[in-house]
Amino acid sequence: MILAINGGDKLRTAPFPAYNTIGAEEEEAVLRVLRSGKLSTYLGTWHDDFYGGPEVRALEREWGEYFGVKHAISVNSATSGLYAAVGACGISPGDEVIVSAYTMSASATAALVYGAIPVFADIEEEYYCLDVNSIESKITPCTKAIIVVDIFGQPYDRDAINALAKKHNLFVIEDAAQAPGAMLDGKFAGTLGDIGIYSLNYHKHIHSGEGGIIVTDNDALAHKLRLIRNHAEAVLSAKGIEDKSELINMVGFNYRMTEIEAAIAREQLKKLPDLLTQRLANTHYFNEKLAQIPCIIPTKIRPYSKHAFYVHPLQFDEKTAGMHRNRFIDAVKAELPPTLLREESAVLLSYGYVKPLYLQPLYQERIAFGRDGYPFSLSDVTYPKGLCPVTENMHYNRLITHEFMRPGMTQNDMNDVVHAFEKVWKNREELL
Ligand SMILES: *Cc1c(COP(=O)(O)O)cnc(C)c1O
Repeated sequence: MILAINGGDKLRTAPFPAYNTIGAEEEEAVLRVLRSGKLSTYLGTWHDDFYGGPEVRALEREWGEYFGVKHAISVNSATSGLYAAVGACGISPGDEVIVSAYTMSASATAALVYGAIPVFADIEEEYYCLDVNSIESKITPCTKAIIVVDIFGQPYDRDAINALAKKHNLFVIEDAAQAPGAMLDGKFAGTLGDIGIYSLNYHKHIHSGEGGIIVTDNDALAHKLRLIRNHAEAVLSAKGIEDKSELINMVGFNYRMTEIEAAIAREQLKKLPDLLTQRLANTHYFNEKLAQIPCIIPTKIRPYSKHAFYVHPLQFDEKTAGMHRNRFIDAVKAELPPTLLREESAVLLSYGYVKPLYLQPLYQERIAFGRDGYPFSLSDVTYPKGLCPVTENMHYNRLITHEFMRPGMTQNDMNDVVHAFEKVWKNREELL
């Protein structure tokens, strides 16, 4: 049999079904808001509506109840949520923030927007989250926070990292954008550090188009987060706050979510448990089937935790395969069709995830704000190639990620994916 990459027939050409969680419930919710005429109720002055309208507040109440957390604060994206979190922690120019090198770019730019310096630490070989052993040597007197990421839906190493943070008096900001519903020891990911952030963008488990939710049990942080969300500088004096230090990091943001997004998010939250159950069942199936291919190493899940599988990570064993991962994966991709609604991403299978962040031009050139290299000019921190060897090896040689486990895929659809891997394995001689 000739592999598709060598000109043979594709194993499948009909596109895979879309992951579309939007239905009659969301439609009704949007109409309810449209009919009310109130598409947002926020006021950026001191008033009851400083905290948003009825849908926004209901979403926050319901989110807080579901995740078992005192404060849920809606924002217009998880990126905004990360920025607000860094601001609320009082992080200042020249401070250092330790962050995973293997994450979406906003986990690190959150430090930069406040003039702080991202210090990249390496990831765990098995779980891809920030490795506590890589953090300690990076802590300096300038370090103020650790931004942990529940990457791919796996909760971070809470016990070890929180203990280290406590010892050095650091905030833990948990980027749980990829992990709504993941758990560690019976507690939800997102609620494991001082502040957690979820994303409601189109590509996440549940979404409102764009949106994010910040959670915390800390009243003082919650107060600051709500101020940052809505032009704090305009209301601080109205609130009778005399302490001018309250103004720190409170300047001029609008991170407010609209009533329409909040109404959609409320319906989506109701669907999360079922969507997650299906996603986990599908991932389990793939993990078992693909592990039977000798060069594929299945996912490990951290003890006492529940993974949310934003993507399904696997590892590739080059020695067993006799070829580089990219060659093998290119051949599998050639066998498969795109997925509806995501046609632009072609086949939802990748080698690696995103380039290790410090290799982006932003860090390599040390250019962010203005002509003089601010804030990098405040610091001696450098970003050499090889800085995080595990991350680089995962990205360039070992890690495979796919999204074929998203609800909507039938048993037949999933089997086609498995058969594509099997076909390439059986005919691997053609690739050598
Ligand atoms: C998606 C994502 C974000 C950003 O979410 P937005 O809502 O698009 O701003 C941040 N961190 C991680 C890990 C993400 O996956």
